[in-house]
Amino acid sequence: MFLKSLEIYGFKSFADKVNLEFSDGITSLLGPNGCGKSNIVDAIKWVLGEQSTKTLRAGRMEDVIFNGTDTRKPLQVAEVTLVISNEERHLGIEEAEVEIKRRIFRNGDSEYYLNRNRVLLKNIRELFYDTGVGKSAYSILEQGKIDQILSSKPEDRRYIFEEAAGISRFKVQSLEAERK
Ligand code: ATP
Ligand code: MG
Repeated sequence: MFLKSLEIYGFKSFADKVNLEFSDGITSLLGPNGCGKSNIVDAIKWVLGEQSTKTLRAGRMEDVIFNGTDTRKPLQVAEVTLVISNEERHLGIEEAEVEIKRRIFRNGDSEYYLNRNRVLLKNIRELFYDTGVGKSAYSILEQGKIDQILSSKPEDRRYIFEEAAGISRFKVQSLEAERK
């Protein structure tokens, strides 16, 4: 399983549509300060369903929409599309590629699509349980994250092992059942 491509339109500094193609291996993003490297990582977190504006380095969620420059008007919508290779069917979908899209409008409404079908954020979350991908998993390791993992309480650190062991899904299901 690996990221195949990322299309960004109207998200943060990306006013024009850009399409990044990745291959199975290491990709480095290089560029001067402020050119948008971290915005690309933010776009990946966002399309995977990140809801924390702090994590996304935005004041309000709408702030992820391109907010204009001296020469360009702000946009009304932001869209990010991520294509993940699913050749080995690690994601529970019988397709070789999984495409996730998230769109947000200025009024704050967000839409999610999974292989072009409209879904809920919950469906995106469910897709990634036990895969190491997703909001609080370990596929995105940023500066400070290792320190945070090492210094966290054992109970908090346990989620990493639960995710790797493949039991996060069952834990969530059991919590949901208890609530009903
Ligand atoms: P560094 O090397 O310093 O970490 P970087 O390449 O990671 O830099 P980013 O943090 O990705 O840079 O990009 C910052 C730029 O994105 C800033 O110029 C900021 O103005 C711009 N930016 C952030 N949000 C928006 C937005 N909603 N609309 C337009 N531009 C935005
Ligand atoms: Mg940066």
